[in-house]
Amino acid sequence: MKWEFRQQDAVSCLTLPGWNQLGVVTAFTTRDGGYSTGAYKSLNMGLHVGDDRELVIANREIVCRSLGFELQQMVCCEQIHGNGVVVVEKHHAGRGSADLSDALLGYDAMVTDCPGVFLTEFYADCIPVYFFDPVKRVIGLAHSGWKGTALRIAEATLNVMRDRFHCLSDDIRVFIGPGIGPECFAVDDNRRNQVERLFTFHDQIIYSYNENRYVWDLHLSNRLILQQSGIPEDNIISCHICTACNPEMFFSYRKTGGHTGRMAAVLGLLD
Ligand SMILES: [Zn+2]
Repeated sequence: MKWEFRQQDAVSCLTLPGWNQLGVVTAFTTRDGGYSTGAYKSLNMGLHVGDDRELVIANREIVCRSLGFELQQMVCCEQIHGNGVVVVEKHHAGRGSADLSDALLGYDAMVTDCPGVFLTEFYADCIPVYFFDPVKRVIGLAHSGWKGTALRIAEATLNVMRDRFHCLSDDIRVFIGPGIGPECFAVDDNRRNQVERLFTFHDQIIYSYNENRYVWDLHLSNRLILQQSGIPEDNIISCHICTACNPEMFFSYRKTGGHTGRMAAVLGLLD
């Protein structure tokens, strides 16, 4: 199974045709096709970054329309760079979709078995990790920046799928989406030491790049966390596009010193 870009109306999203065929809407937006201007040009999906609220909501509506659902079906969590996982139910539909203050507070990952709610998170360099169990029909979405990666949020999400929904590791498919690549994520000695203490496979994820500079591969870290917690290697699809290396296509926090918009990761079960 592979990912691909799909153009629908003015919006170009990265998607997984294989999951879509199984009744799961899967998307990662690019920065093209919206109303925002300046640093947020143009499809900024984040309400929390200083952009005009009305424009962001209009942008979100464009994406909803192109993916075939309503803004009121979107569910967003606060994204605090922690590892809290919330189980999303039908009555959560619309939370955080038009107002930051009613997003699901304190969480960075969402899991649901309810069709018709569209889990949505916002990104500029952090790694989006999408989960789908086609047997139990359960989905999950985890926001894994460097802090979430250090806290193993991908594993925390798996644990909720297994404990709460009885998903089997062999059934769970995972898509690791676009995020900052290792060539753009240099780390200092402190961070490097911290990572080396956290992961047995640290020599694979922290390495020397361009002579004296050490970098941290967040993408591979998430893959190895998943494999270490029981997901078969072949169940994991990876997209290695770097958000910082592609400023025409993506917003990047690191590249811009933080003054930028957000892409959206969207995952929803159809009826
Ligand atoms: Zn890069």
